[in-house]
Amino acid sequence: MKKLIPNHIRDLVPYSSARSINVEGDIWLNANESPWNQEIIRKFYKLNRYPQFQSKKLLLKYATYIQCDAKNIIITRGADEAIELLMRTFCIAYKDAIIFCPPTYDMYEVSAKILGIRAISIPLLKTFQLNLNCIYSYLKEIKLIYICHPNNPTGNIVLKEDVLFILNNIPNHVILVIDEAYIEFSENNSFIFLLSKYKNLVILRTLSKAFGLAGIRCGFIVSNINIVNILKKVLAPYPIPTPISDIAINALSAQNISIMKNRVLLILKNKNFLLKSLSKFSFVKNIYSSHTNFILIKFIESKFIFDYLLKNKIVLRDQSNKIYLKNCLRVSIGIKEECQQLINVLKALDKDKKY
Ligand SMILES: *Cc1c(COP(=O)(O)O)cnc(C)c1O
Repeated sequence: MKKLIPNHIRDLVPYSSARSINVEGDIWLNANESPWNQEIIRKFYKLNRYPQFQSKKLLLKYATYIQCDAKNIIITRGADEAIELLMRTFCIAYKDAIIFCPPTYDMYEVSAKILGIRAISIPLLKTFQLNLNCIYSYLKEIKLIYICHPNNPTGNIVLKEDVLFILNNIPNHVILVIDEAYIEFSENNSFIFLLSKYKNLVILRTLSKAFGLAGIRCGFIVSNINIVNILKKVLAPYPIPTPISDIAINALSAQNISIMKNRVLLILKNKNFLLKSLSKFSFVKNIYSSHTNFILIKFIESKFIFDYLLKNKIVLRDQSNKIYLKNCLRVSIGIKEECQQLINVLKALDKDKKY
């Protein structure tokens, strides 16, 4: 830990907010808040008051959901804030470095660049698995390793033995960050269970994907209590607005979790429909196996397909400029009608033989 935490963070006295004081009271005159609540929202929220730093209720709900202890969790403004918070906490600008493994989620590199932290690119192997030898050779120079599991945009999961290899070989001043934004679509493959054994493991989660709450910006960091406590020093005093905590708490009720799980099953069903239908087109060159709510597809000529779909008001994500992903597009799995419409438009194109 000593070599991991920069001196300016170790010595940092975190901002002490009006809400940090843990007392019961009837008359609150300590936070320069307004004594009046807004008329229209009075029924639902006390928005004249600052929220809790971390909603205890939400922490407990998420802890129950992932079967760990609330003290191992931090609520963040989406997983994106979590990605950046780790760098802001553990990396010194123009000195420290992180590793990311493309093709992967872009924000690891973008956040590092914004903060003046060196982002070392160690591309995945052609199998989309980690290049362990290369990662190993950089271990002395870095603070954080970002791994996306299942990976966006390739859709595959990372091999368990590779994660174990890294965890068993990283020095104390390095943290392995596993971004599990899509893990609900591959439920049994979470690495949460490794947290009790490995002290320098951090897992990122979000309500943006399977829970369908991208609009509320709510994510979670799960790690051991030492790392959690350091990160809390750096996190903003009131990161999560009260209505957001309340929506998140509601989403994590037993009933709503079971609705989420049914929707995941529906997405997997629609995915199978897409996989079967897409494989019949001659202009589809490869469909990568997916543990997520999207599929990566290699076309003969992706730009033409992308534009043709766009003309028909169907928007996919172009991935063709990434390493290994020439002529690849990523399609998110929608409802059955949306999947069917995509196939219909592609069928029309196939018939015309215009490509
Ligand atoms: C969507 C996504 C995120 C961002 O999640 P938010 O909680 O919405 O910030 C993080 N990581 C990956 C891999 C993603 O695909």
